[in-house]
Amino acid sequence: MDYQALAELLFPDVNDTPESLEARFPQRDLPEGAVVTRMAPSPTGFVHLGNLVQGLTSERMAHQSGGVLFLRVEDTDAKREVPGAVEVLIDTLKHYGIRFDEGATIDGDNGIYGPYRQRQRASIYHVYAKKLVSEGQAYPCFCTEEELTAMREKQEAAKETTGYYGKYALWRDRSMEEIQAQLDAGNPWVLRFRSTGSIENQFKFDDVVKGKLTITENNVDHVLLKSDGIPTYHFAHAVDDHLMRTTHVVRGDEWLPSLPFHIQLFKALGFKLPKYVHIGPLMKMDGTSKRKLSKRKDPELALTFYKAEGFPVQAVYEYLMTLLNSNFEDWRRANPTAPATDFKFSPKKLNPAGNLFDYAKLTDVSKNVIAAMDAAQVCQLLTQWALEFDPEFGQLLAADPDYTTRILAIGRGGKKPRKDLGVWKDAKPYMGFFFDAYLEAPVFDEKFDRQVITDALKRFLEVFDIQDDANQWFDKVKQITTDMGFTTDMKAYKANPDAYPGTVADISTFIRLAVTGKTNSPDLYSVMQILGYDRTVARIRNVLNNL
Ligand code: GLU
Repeated sequence: MDYQALAELLFPDVNDTPESLEARFPQRDLPEGAVVTRMAPSPTGFVHLGNLVQGLTSERMAHQSGGVLFLRVEDTDAKREVPGAVEVLIDTLKHYGIRFDEGATIDGDNGIYGPYRQRQRASIYHVYAKKLVSEGQAYPCFCTEEELTAMREKQEAAKETTGYYGKYALWRDRSMEEIQAQLDAGNPWVLRFRSTGSIENQFKFDDVVKGKLTITENNVDHVLLKSDGIPTYHFAHAVDDHLMRTTHVVRGDEWLPSLPFHIQLFKALGFKLPKYVHIGPLMKMDGTSKRKLSKRKDPELALTFYKAEGFPVQAVYEYLMTLLNSNFEDWRRANPTAPATDFKFSPKKLNPAGNLFDYAKLTDVSKNVIAAMDAAQVCQLLTQWALEFDPEFGQLLAADPDYTTRILAIGRGGKKPRKDLGVWKDAKPYMGFFFDAYLEAPVFDEKFDRQVITDALKRFLEVFDIQDDANQWFDKVKQITTDMGFTTDMKAYKANPDAYPGTVADISTFIRLAVTGKTNSPDLYSVMQILGYDRTVARIRNVLNNL
């Protein structure tokens, strides 16, 4: 067979050569050890936590080493493409602090290793397709769908491995005349790789996350180009990651079964193999067993979920760091205010079997992150969230940022800051009562006579002075307590509860309920200071009128 002639026959318009492409996309001029990574998503419109894990890992590896992170859009499957998906992807990743140095952007390409959208790279793939054909390493296959189905059924019936290999590789050794006849008839063809591998052979391979693997050679003549001339993922991966000078391929471990073919393909093309970082799936506990997070069953897989719940970006980021590198938490304790990017991230620490996602832990991390923010920052982030997801509340927060900030300043700072907020959704139940629109009617404990409650509230109104400091204020509450025969001595009360109608805690609760509508609230003295004299008194009077 004259492979050179076959290459000309199949790719008459390809004049570029691998050499000219090598020159067009030169080795990157980067310091020793610099890592070049990429994200290579298909634009399906759904951005999930797994994308973020992959993005974060690639981003840290690149930027920590003085390397490059780029974005390549894998849009070879036009059927799955959702309009606007690339924009959503770029926006979402940016929101989570993943910054690309190069690649596809909303406005087109940024960088000299492009185009960064695969559909625009057809002519580049064809250069290598032609080269492989000219070397006898690839050939056209004219099998129809029906033929392939029949083949699979036959293999299944005979309990053989299914696929296009060995004696089943029907077009592997056809003559030039047969190929020419098919082309003349205008029949569609795909380009297949001529595998020289054998499943009898195994070799060792080192994956950054999975460690040492034993790999069985690939013997299948996989498709390189589909009948429309667009490459499969495998072929595009080899050509793109070579020409874009990727040093590390960080991707989901669903690609592990294709790795034998990828290794083979890089070799056939004369390309240096990049390092592989195969990330296990995110797992969750379901009852007592672990399972993969699923797009169908688990809303928490979608990144939009975290935004809507109101997790601050920094919380998701810190949690994922904790999840991926177990030493992050200790580092964070030792460096409470350092930027997370100061932490030395290691892809080797990822769990090869997949990391266990823990929602409760995320919420804890988030509470700490929010507790460490200052009130102005919380005000800004909360207001921004609320305007989008709870606009009525958002308008109230935004109407008077000073007021909102003073509310959010309660219990902030100091050694033991309050941790009331895990997500922005928690804010309304926590502080909504500061706005009259959300003030609920109090529900007093049935065990107290309404007359007693009225008495306590009236006494408080008589002595309430907004100028009092916290101690003076509380002394007055204690005075009311003892005047009414209640006790301020909790120990004495516990020892002999029948001796008193109640304690200072009950008196405080009457006042708290009247002012906030709730039995639980941030520090009541601070609440009154923020509400001011008139509103505090008006609220108590209103409750008295309705008792
Ligand atoms: N387009 C592939 C995917 O979305 C890319 C995998 C890779 O990073 O190589 O799964």
